Amino acid sequence: SGGEGLEKFRLFRRDDFDSDWVKVAERSFGRVYRVKLKLLRERCALKCLSTSSHYRDMTEEVSKLGKVKFNYVTSVYGVCDDPPSIVMEYMSKGSLDLLLASHTIMWLKKFQMIHEVVMGMNFLHSTAPPLLHLNLKPANILLDDHLHVKISDFGLFKWEDSAGMSVMEHLTARGNINYVPPEAFNQNPDPPGTKYDVYSFAVVMWEILTQKKPYAGANMTEVIIRVSSGKRPSVERVPDDQPPECQDMIAIMQLCWQQNRQHRPAFSDGARGSSPGGEDGRSLLRAVVNGDAESVRGVLGTGGLVNGQSQRGYTPLIVAVLHKHHHICELLV
Ligand code: ATP
Ligand code: MG
Repeated sequence: SGGEGLEKFRLFRRDDFDSDWVKVAERSFGRVYRVKLKLLRERCALKCLSTSSHYRDMTEEVSKLGKVKFNYVTSVYGVCDDPPSIVMEYMSKGSLDLLLASHTIMWLKKFQMIHEVVMGMNFLHSTAPPLLHLNLKPANILLDDHLHVKISDFGLFKWEDSAGMSVMEHLTARGNINYVPPEAFNQNPDPPGTKYDVYSFAVVMWEILTQKKPYAGANMTEVIIRVSSGKRPSVERVPDDQPPECQDMIAIMQLCWQQNRQHRPAFSDGARGSSPGGEDGRSLLRAVVNGDAESVRGVLGTGGLVNGQSQRGYTPLIVAVLHKHHHICELLV
């Protein structure tokens, strides 16, 4: 989707949209509307930002996000001055938090979602300098018509102090403590890097695998104490009916939420030129990353899978997904 007119980052005005706005979500920090662009007849989402915001200024910083285009991240079309909002791709099936709470998801679909999140995160981190998300959580993982995943709201979170608000205050105000790595709880934490997102990803992974909420019943202080002392959501809660690949997934997850951020793998670790096959989760993560859209298309294009050609470069996981499903295109492209 997205006509020519949405290729370039734009400044929109209230007038650019039809008058019937549909409220998609309402939170204390702002609202999301579904609107329609008059000129292109294209649906968009308007993410309204409240003034007391922890978000970046909607100036050049957000306009940089307009250049970020990839299959697994939502497109930002521009900003609107009235109401102050970000104009972005509308994702018809809402966010992953809602889906996880409302539907039982098949294992292969779960693995595919994890793969797609890795694809999106690897892309963001592979830009120079890496585009940090810092707010990765199921509510910021959106689903398209076909339940494919796109990462949303990346690059909006402001780490630097604003109006005397400390980073901790930001995090508490947002109720997103579950996704914050232990090093952020230090007295004077270092500025966040890519490993911050890797930690958040691990918690998201746990939520996808278990379809449960982490640290249920614990208040914020308790979560901080637990996480600081090295505790994590329980792996036992991953359902028993899991296929064999799930153990690989759990291994990746545990690497990604390690206490020492240096030990966490990077999304982009060895993304080029490395081959899977190692038993450890680290190389598996690399391999998941290696199954990039380009090479998947390459394989599909040459009919490699159908003809039983070599599947080198794919994790057991991806190969399993490709094999077990007839709708390969729908699954991975
Ligand atoms: P944060 O501000 O930290 O991202 P959040 O994700 O909970 O917090 P919003 O980003 O305002 O809040 O989004 C609220 C809800 O609106 C999302 O959970 C999702 O269900 C829906 N939503 C957000 N963006 C879109 C979009 N582009 N298309 C469709 N639905 C969206
Ligand atoms: Mg969001």
